[in-house]
Amino acid sequence: MRIDLHTHSTASDGTDSPAELVAAAARAGLDTVALTDHDTTAGWADAAAALPPGLRLVRGAELSCLSPDGRGGECTVHLLAYLFDPEAGAVVRTHEKSRAERRIRLRRIAERMAADGLPVDPDALLDGVPAGVTPGRPHLATVLVRAGVVSTVDEAFARYLNDRGRYYIPSNRTPVLDALAMVTASGGVSVLAHAFAHRRGPTVTAEVIAELAAAGLDGIEVDHPDHDPADRQRLRGLAADLDLLTTGSSDYHGSNKTVRLGQETTDPQMLDAIAERATGAPVLSA
Ligand code: AMP
Ligand code: ZN
Ligand code: FE
Ligand code: FE
Repeated sequence: MRIDLHTHSTASDGTDSPAELVAAAARAGLDTVALTDHDTTAGWADAAAALPPGLRLVRGAELSCLSPDGRGGECTVHLLAYLFDPEAGAVVRTHEKSRAERRIRLRRIAERMAADGLPVDPDALLDGVPAGVTPGRPHLATVLVRAGVVSTVDEAFARYLNDRGRYYIPSNRTPVLDALAMVTASGGVSVLAHAFAHRRGPTVTAEVIAELAAAGLDGIEVDHPDHDPADRQRLRGLAADLDLLTTGSSDYHGSNKTVRLGQETTDPQMLDAIAERATGAPVLSA
């Protein structure tokens, strides 16, 4: 069984349409794929309609949240939500708010770059992100690649767009306890994404993860391309101590990232547990 529970499509900042994504997942030999676009369920219907025989689809989303960091400050965490009711009021409102605020934020980043003389047109950038699609920094990275400023999306992040850089503005973030409550109330299952991905920016302590577990967190993403072996070992230990589910996933973004579908995978028993707990939406098969 090959199960990849974290991917992005053109409904947010991936480059495969939802239909292309499920086709690519089947070609990659996956048995199950989860679609987890940032702050939207807009890709769910197209992914479901295009589901190839033999592939199962877990519908989800990735929410940007604000959390205490466990050191007296705050930091960003990403919460994967699976199999929640996409029509639950709080979910719809939170997603809409996030997308609207992300448009404003991406425009601000683009304006700062334009003010520094970089060839970025904020209006053209936003016109290129259709309503309903969640805008993200990879959209701006693509503009920089097309303009010849950098040759890859990775280089755009390394030189201009990373969290420690001059142009960084955080995206709107839902307080993590509110997000957990919302996922639970909408029948979903919550998994903390890439919790120890230090390369991306500040991360939470183990104590914070214990607090999230007490507040209803279901699992943690252990096997992720941005986790080194020591990160994985610590997270696996924490999951065992806190009785949390563990997942492994690629965080595929099409050509916006170098990871492959199925590069990291989830144990079938973990997927069974997720499907058993969820009451908001079923796992789909063609
Ligand atoms: P945003 O949601 O706008 O804050 O942008 C973050 C997104 O950019 C995440 O989905 C990351 O996967 C992606 N990202 C972060 N760092 C990089 C990088 N170095 N190369 C490509 N994508 C990245
Ligand atoms: Zn992304
Ligand atoms: Fe993430
Ligand atoms: Fe992601």
